[in-house]
Amino acid sequence: MSNDSVFNYSTLLERLYKNLPKKRVAEAIEIPTLNVSHVGLQTQIRNFKEICDIIRREPRICMRFFLKELAARGTIDDSGIFTIYSRVSTQTLNALFRRFLMTYVRCSTCSSLHTVLIRQGKVWVIKCLACGAESPVKPI
Ligand SMILES: [Zn+2]
Repeated sequence: MSNDSVFNYSTLLERLYKNLPKKRVAEAIEIPTLNVSHVGLQTQIRNFKEICDIIRREPRICMRFFLKELAARGTIDDSGIFTIYSRVSTQTLNALFRRFLMTYVRCSTCSSLHTVLIRQGKVWVIKCLACGAESPVKPI
C-alpha cells in the first residue's frame, strides 16, 4: 500500500464516520417510556397519544392491540390518556408495547421505526419510510 492510498483510505474513513452520526440521529426515534399509573382497579397510560404520534400509529389501532392481548376493555379520552378497565402491571404493558413495536412498527428489512401502516380493508402493510420496503402484517 502506498502512502497515497493510505491517505485516501483514512480520508474515506473519516468521511464515513463524519456521516454516520448524522444518519443515525435522523434514523433514531426517541420513544418515551410508558407513563403508567394505577387508579383503583383501572390502569392508565397517560402519554399514550403522544407515543402513538411519535411512532405514527393511530391510537385506536394501538389500543385495540393492547386490549385484545389483555382481553380487557378500555378507552382513550380527549386528552390522549388510555384507560384500561383492569389492573395491569407496568412490566406487562412495557412487554406488550415492545411486541407492538416489533410487529406493527419496525421495518422487517432494515429495522427502522420510521414506518407507516397502510390499511386497505383486511390487508395491512407496513411501509418503511427509510428503505421503502413493504411488508404485510396481520390485521389487529
Ligand atoms: Zn426499512
